[in-house]
Amino acid sequence: MYRSNTCGELRLANVGTEVTLSGWVQRVRVLGGLTFIDLRDRYGLTQLVFNIETDAALCERANKLGREFVIQVKGKVAERTSKNAQMPTGDIEIYVKELTVLSQSEVPPFIIENDTDGNEELRLKYRYLDIRRPVLRDRLLKRAAIIKAVREYLDGKNFVEIETPNLIKSTPEGARDFLVPSRLVHGSFYALPQSPQILKQLLMVAGMDRYYQIVKCFRDEDFRGDRQPEFTQVDCEMSFVHQEDIFETFGGLMQHVFKKTLNYELGELPRLRYDDAIKYYGSDKPDLRFDCKIVDLNEVLPQSEFALFNNAVANGGLVAGLNAKGCAGYSRKQLDELVEFVKASHRGLGGLVNIKFNEDGTVKSSVDKFFTEEQLRAIGKAFDAQNGDMLLIAADKTGKVRKALGDLRLELAKRNNWIDESKWSVLWVVDFPLFEKDEESGEVTFAHHPFCSPHPEDMQYFDTDPTRVRAQTYDMVMNGNEILSGSIRIHQHDIQERVFKNLGFSPEEQEKRFGFMLNAFKYGAPPHGGCAFGLDRIVMLMTGGETIRDTMAFPKTSGGRDLMMDAPTPVDTKQLVELGILVKE
Ligand code: ASP
Repeated sequence: MYRSNTCGELRLANVGTEVTLSGWVQRVRVLGGLTFIDLRDRYGLTQLVFNIETDAALCERANKLGREFVIQVKGKVAERTSKNAQMPTGDIEIYVKELTVLSQSEVPPFIIENDTDGNEELRLKYRYLDIRRPVLRDRLLKRAAIIKAVREYLDGKNFVEIETPNLIKSTPEGARDFLVPSRLVHGSFYALPQSPQILKQLLMVAGMDRYYQIVKCFRDEDFRGDRQPEFTQVDCEMSFVHQEDIFETFGGLMQHVFKKTLNYELGELPRLRYDDAIKYYGSDKPDLRFDCKIVDLNEVLPQSEFALFNNAVANGGLVAGLNAKGCAGYSRKQLDELVEFVKASHRGLGGLVNIKFNEDGTVKSSVDKFFTEEQLRAIGKAFDAQNGDMLLIAADKTGKVRKALGDLRLELAKRNNWIDESKWSVLWVVDFPLFEKDEESGEVTFAHHPFCSPHPEDMQYFDTDPTRVRAQTYDMVMNGNEILSGSIRIHQHDIQERVFKNLGFSPEEQEKRFGFMLNAFKYGAPPHGGCAFGLDRIVMLMTGGETIRDTMAFPKTSGGRDLMMDAPTPVDTKQLVELGILVKE
C-alpha cells in the first residue's frame, strides 16, 4: 500500500492514528534538532516532522531530501503546537517513523508554488511541473467539475453523447483548415474539423434527436488575441425545437453548472437583441455588470456652427457619447489618454469632445466656443448628467462611433473600477443578421455559418436587401465574452440552396463542398437547431484565469508552438516521400 490517506485529508480527528502518505517534497526546513517537510500531492500539503533525538539516522536521511523527491512515509498523526490556519491540514503533523525514497528529482527549473519565479515560457516547457502548482491544478480540477456538471445535466435531458471523426472534409466556420495529407491518395487531404457542425446536423437527419459531444475543434487562425489552434467545445444539437426551447435548455445548463461548481444562483438569463447590443453597448458581447449606455445625439443636438457634429449628421453618420459618471475631475493627461485610446488605428476616431459637469455646478467643455452653457446643459439632460459627471462624445461614421464608444465604455469601467467582480453577467444576444457585408469589398458573407435559418418574416428582403434579413442565431455572453453561439438550422433543401446562392457558391461548388449534406436533406430532415459552448473560455472566466491557456493541460504558445514536445518540427524525408510531399525550401 503506497498510502492510507492523501496529503490533503488529515485533521484533528485523526490524531493518534498510524498513517502512510506518499507525495512530493515541497520544502525541507531544518530547525535545531527538528526537520520539517511539506509533503504535496494533488489533494494538498501535510507537514512531516523528523526528530534527531528520536531517530538520528532517519533525521539525517530526511535532511538530504531534495525538492520534488517522491517519498513515502509512515508515522503517527499528532496535534501541532503552532497551528497554521491557512492550511486545511494545519492543525496536525506527522511524526515520521519510516521513510522510503520512491524517486529522486533534479533541482526543478522553477519554484513549484503559486508564487513562482518561472516565466511562462519556462513553465510551458515543463508543463508537468507547472501543473503541480495549486493554481493550475485547481483550474484543471474545476474544468473537470464543470464538464461533469455539463454531462450530468445533458444526460438528465435525454442527450446522447456521440463522437464524430477528426479526419473529415472542410467545415465552413470561416477559419482556415488544418490539413492532413493522405498517404494512400497522394495529393488529397483530410481537413480537421473546425467544428462538428455538419456531422451533428446529419445526426439529426439520422434521427438521433438530442446530441452532445465534448469535442476538440481545430482552426488554423492567425494568433490574434486569446486563441489556441485546438480548443474544446461542448457541442449540442436538438431536433423539433424552436429558439425558445434552446434558450430554456441551455440557459438551464448554465444555471446548473453555476449552481454545481460555484454554488451561485444565476437565475434566468436576460435577452438582448443584437441591434440593441450594438446601439447601446457598441458590441455584440456587452458586459452588463455595469451600465453606461451609448446615448445617440443626432436628434437632440442644438443648432451650432460646430462642423464635426454637423458634418457627421449631414453625411448620415452618428454623434453619440457616454456619461463617464464621476469623472469630471479627470486631468488633462487622463483625458489625453482616452483620446489616444479612441484614435488607435483599429478604432480610428479623430478625437473626443468632453463636457464636464463640475462638482461646484459649473459646466466646462472642449467646445465652449460653439455651444452656450444652456445648450451644453440640454445635451447633459440626454445623459441624465449630474454634478461630477463628464460626457465623452464622438462624431463619425455610425459603425465606427459605436465600436469606439463600446471599447471606451470598457476602458472607463476598468479605470474607474466600475465592475463588481463578485457579480456575473450571463445573457443571450439574439436576432443576429443572417449575412454580413464586408465594408471594404462589399462582398456578402454569412454572419455565423451558412446553415443558419433566416427569420421567416424577413424572407421578403432575401433577394432585394439581404443584410436586412435576421437569422435565428444567438450567442451567450458571459462578463463581456462570447461563450456560445448557435442557431436554428435550415432544414429545407430549397432555402439552403438559396442561401448558398446568395453567398456566391455556384451550383458546382455547392455540390463539391456540401453535396453530401444537401443530398441527406432530401431524405427527411427534421427541423433542428443547436449551439456550441466554448469550454475553455467558460473555465477561464469561472476560475479567474487570464487566458484560455490557463485552463488547458498542455496548451500552445500564442505563436502556436508546443514548447514541451517541441512541435511543429520538420519530419523525415522518408515520411514525406510516403505522403508524396515535397517541401519547398
Ligand atoms: N458550429 C458552431 C460554432 O462552432 C456552433 C453552432 O452553430 O452550433 O460556432
